[in-house]
Amino acid sequence: MKSITITAKVKLYPTSEQMMILNKTLSVIRDVLNFVSAFVFGREGIRYLELDHALYYPVRQQFGLRSQMTQSVFKTVLAKYKSMKSNGHPFSKVSFRNFEYDLVWNRDYSISGQSVSLNTLSGRLHIPFELKGMEHWFSAGGRFGTAKLICKNRKYYLHIPVTLEAENRNILNHIVGIDLGVNHLAVSFDDEGNTRFFSGRTVTEHVRLKSRYVMVYWAFCQFREMLEYKAALSQSEVLATDPKYTSQSCPVCGNTTKANRNRRKLEFCCTVCGYRSNDDRTGAINIYRKGCNTLFAEACQA
Ligand SMILES: [Zn+2]
Repeated sequence: MKSITITAKVKLYPTSEQMMILNKTLSVIRDVLNFVSAFVFGREGIRYLELDHALYYPVRQQFGLRSQMTQSVFKTVLAKYKSMKSNGHPFSKVSFRNFEYDLVWNRDYSISGQSVSLNTLSGRLHIPFELKGMEHWFSAGGRFGTAKLICKNRKYYLHIPVTLEAENRNILNHIVGIDLGVNHLAVSFDDEGNTRFFSGRTVTEHVRLKSRYVMVYWAFCQFREMLEYKAALSQSEVLATDPKYTSQSCPVCGNTTKANRNRRKLEFCCTVCGYRSNDDRTGAINIYRKGCNTLFAEACQA
């Protein structure tokens, strides 16, 4: 069994009274995160139990945090230091600037009907939420992981990791080639010869040129996640392939040269046989073929 995890971004609609409680909770948690971080910084390699032993009562007394929240904060801080280390960054003090709060499923948060139940400093809150096209993630019976409550521009979001088990599929019915392009977010080409263009421009046009690359990458990331998840739901599989030369090869005669592609005109024109098409579409056709070759080679070996 193969499992796939995607992050469902759920928008919350708290009342103004609930907002005050959320802000208070997030603010205190941020203070505690920084307090614990300062303690951990002087003690590289400290373990959870040692941290719990040293700070559990001070944190509860000084900040009035509940038991479960205190333990969540310890875990969040240790995880941040751990990921800093595994990413190869030099050991430095982690500071928490944003409002964030990690909530364990069925302990700190749960979902019933149209509302999310959250643990706060002032007890449980039941807040309406919006799924917006993500209903199937919830109805597919996935497992919910530790969620993160985030506040951005006075709007509240709960990022919930949902894990779905997918059965590997051995029989192939349909193959679709998808090219993640520059002009379009993605272009697909399927076994019936249909081409579809997916716009991604809105994602990149809002950002300054300086951060353009980051935003484009993020969109791709989300697209890939979404694709894997949807594929799992329909018992399909996503295969990544090396995109090398896929935008330069002629699908008709195989002639491969940079000169085949005119980026300015968004056109592919083969210098040998004269085959013409949209350049992103040609990339999708070549990826579709690469996929077919890989899958058939695998099938022959099996
Ligand atoms: Zn050609």
